[in-house]
Amino acid sequence: MTNPDLAIIGAGAAGIGCALAAAARGARVLVAEAAEALGGTVAGSLIHTLGGLFDDQGERLNDGLAGELIDRLGDADPATKPRRIGRAWVLNVDPAVYRETLRRWIAEYPNVEIRYHSQVNKAEMEGVRIIQVDLDCDGRRTAIYPRHLIDASGNAAAVRRIAPTKVSEGEALAGVIVRLRRAAPDALAFPRGIALVRGIRKAAQRGELPPECGDCWLDSGCHADEIYVKFNIAADRYEHRTMLQATHRLIDHLRRTPGLERLELHQLGALGVRDGGRIEGEYRLTETDLKQGRRFPDSVARGGWPIEHWHPRQGIQLEYLPAGQGYDIPLRALKVAGFTNLWGVGKCLSAEPRAQASARVAGTCWAMGEGLAKALTKDDENGTKRHD
Ligand SMILES: Cc1cc2nc3c(=O)[nH]c(=O)nc-3n(C[C@H](O)[C@H](O)[C@H](O)COP(=O)(O)OP(=O)(O)OC[C@H]3O[C@@H](n4cnc5c(N)ncnc54)[C@H](O)[C@@H]3O)c2cc1C
Repeated sequence: MTNPDLAIIGAGAAGIGCALAAAARGARVLVAEAAEALGGTVAGSLIHTLGGLFDDQGERLNDGLAGELIDRLGDADPATKPRRIGRAWVLNVDPAVYRETLRRWIAEYPNVEIRYHSQVNKAEMEGVRIIQVDLDCDGRRTAIYPRHLIDASGNAAAVRRIAPTKVSEGEALAGVIVRLRRAAPDALAFPRGIALVRGIRKAAQRGELPPECGDCWLDSGCHADEIYVKFNIAADRYEHRTMLQATHRLIDHLRRTPGLERLELHQLGALGVRDGGRIEGEYRLTETDLKQGRRFPDSVARGGWPIEHWHPRQGIQLEYLPAGQGYDIPLRALKVAGFTNLWGVGKCLSAEPRAQASARVAGTCWAMGEGLAKALTKDDENGTKRHD
């Protein structure tokens, strides 16, 4: 496909949401993905608690694809379940089931082409409009001529290549998630889980466990014998070998606990970047917008997740939005300032760091992707106002 309506960079939550919604409206869609599989951070970094799909009452927050995603994941695996964490609701999923569900879903659309191992190299402009994009794919360069270029890379990778001044750097800790299996059922049931986490922290303080374990968190998974371990680290300090060693030391430590003697490493997730950089859009979503539940006439999606900011030096800062309150994400926060057909969607939207810390969750990224696709294809259907 050389003349797609939408060229989408990145096949994560926002990119796939955008591709499915556009394809369902008959658009020709090209998805360029750097990795070799779909699913982005959720599948690659082992996110098993999808946020942003429900409001604080456990009701679905956005209609459309986000709801269909919940249904499809439930059909694919009966272990998929909504679950309350604190005052928020998540969907418990198996990341492998999530990836396979996306793969089958997108395969229903012959008007979507996915190119793996592909990245934007450069773009050619005519005034403020992108007219040609050069993609590098497995060492080969090809030119495409999309009507819209959508950066859903999670780190504004395409916008960085085309307009580096339109990107703000990320301001959050990254994380690594590890999936363990063969735990006894209910090994983390209250108060056992809390006691285990406290024990790990004390052992790290005494130097019996590596520093990476000092603020790790344990969570149950979809399956009765699963434990997910979440480590939080600065992205520039990440080393695969060190992380693997820390994981094995932690497993040895946990195996001393009754019920965890047979615990084993099932999967080590890829480094997950919570904020890899955000675009400078025509509008910048603010923390105040979230706290005041601001509505926008050009809203494309609703957010409702708490402000969960993993501050680079101070660690987790969690702030709930007022009860019953969500907020709008305006189309202008997805439109790169100064361009007519360049967009950023998902966790690299245009937002203050603490606003992104809510809007970045998977369900909200799905809704944003869908909302953007609808906005771009609706204009085409009407043949009236176009964003180019
Ligand atoms: C440690 C951690 C824990 C989290 N916990 C949760 C949680 O519990 N619940 C929740 O809902 N969310 C959680 N999140 C956030 C959530 O997973 C992500 O913010 C969300 O999935 C982002 O979706 P996205 O589509 O914007 O980006 P991504 O899912 O990151 O997708 C971006 C895609 O673009 C591709 N890409 C990157 N660069 C390029 C390039 N140059 N060219 C082409 N393709 C490229 C990537 O390979 C990837 O497939 C967590 C994130 C982290 C890091």
